[in-house]
Amino acid sequence: MSTLSYIQPTATSPWRTYLTQVDRVLPYLGELARWGETLKHPKRALIVDVPIELDDGNVAHFEGFRVQHNLSRGPGKGGVRFHQDVTLEEVMALAAWMSIKNAAVNLPYGGAKGGIRVDPATLSKKELERLTRRYTSEIGIIIGPQNDIPAPDLNTNPQIMAWMMDTYSMNTGVTATGVVTGKPIHLGGSLGRVKATGRGVFVTGREAARRIGLELDGARVAVQGFGNVGSAAAELFGQAGAKIVAIQDHTGTILNDQGMDLADLMPHVRAHGGASGFKGAEKIAGESFWDVKCDILIPAALEGQLTPERARRACAKMVLEGANGPTLPEADDILNERGILVVPDVICNAGGVTVSYFEWVQDFSSFFWTEDEINMRLDKIVVGALKRIWETADRHRITLRTAAFAVACERILTARAERGLYP
Ligand code: GLU
Repeated sequence: MSTLSYIQPTATSPWRTYLTQVDRVLPYLGELARWGETLKHPKRALIVDVPIELDDGNVAHFEGFRVQHNLSRGPGKGGVRFHQDVTLEEVMALAAWMSIKNAAVNLPYGGAKGGIRVDPATLSKKELERLTRRYTSEIGIIIGPQNDIPAPDLNTNPQIMAWMMDTYSMNTGVTATGVVTGKPIHLGGSLGRVKATGRGVFVTGREAARRIGLELDGARVAVQGFGNVGSAAAELFGQAGAKIVAIQDHTGTILNDQGMDLADLMPHVRAHGGASGFKGAEKIAGESFWDVKCDILIPAALEGQLTPERARRACAKMVLEGANGPTLPEADDILNERGILVVPDVICNAGGVTVSYFEWVQDFSSFFWTEDEINMRLDKIVVGALKRIWETADRHRITLRTAAFAVACERILTARAERGLYP
């Protein structure tokens, strides 16, 4: 494990998790392992000051980041998150996972990620707009339709993408729809993008279930995080006959052993901003979420949620990583020993960036596809990528995570080796 002077990862921090995952794949890369060190060095990390005038007339400063982890295979691609705990180190890890994800699915992109250390719930809509615009302007020196293309992530959405697109376009004097993805439909957004990440979680889950002989009809599902990813995945599992038995989000944890009625739950979540208080389920203690008896556990919130201690308690047949980096490496080992299949983030939640890719392609060609066409292509790409990863895992007798890294790193490092070192 190598160190960088500008960050101090702790034992459980995301960059360390990522480095461990890279170390685990190196033995399977043959000659290419010679280039492995490149994966441990982000190509470029930009830290920006984001000052805005608050509605009360005061000025507040926020920390903003955009990290381009690897650009060997194409422009940077990855979301922007607004969260009070964002750090440079976290954004580095998220950017690195984007490099792996984009390569695992064979999208023609490198990996990048951005973030602002802010709790957006404390800002008015006007303040949020000013924050987004100033941040976009500051990172404008490295983003662009051919350079690095942001998208939504935690607490960012189509409206925020519209402001980003407009700010970049005003600064460059050209309406550049391809500079961000996840935009509103009439600004060059793609049908199906909002639910694409959750759809990808469902599609990979459906395929994994088929391969391990788990029937979705009647399967018990527990979801942590009920935002854009968790709720869309839950809806699709519900439609496939699965029972959503537990949900945990930032408002609380709820349980219904018989399965929740999603037609009632969804309006409740929209109206109250979370699952807490839903009449069709009982409230339980937060930590009890990890003891819920289920077949499918979907962490779709933040990094580092599946600790070794929780992995020992979890009683699922498989874990679908809707979030990025939800499982610590030691917890991965425990789940593996216990025979619990983990479908890793870099393939499980790749549906979002896959439809972002479709959006980018549609923007360039100014020709837009139907939602059915998008969902069909998403299914095909994700299923094909999972198949290849599964075969790699079987061939080397390794976990799906290490296999996904093997497929991805081979692509990234081959590009790296073929391009060679400059100068
Ligand atoms: N933020 C999403 C992710 O983590 C999507 C990124 C994108 O569409 O570029 O994969």
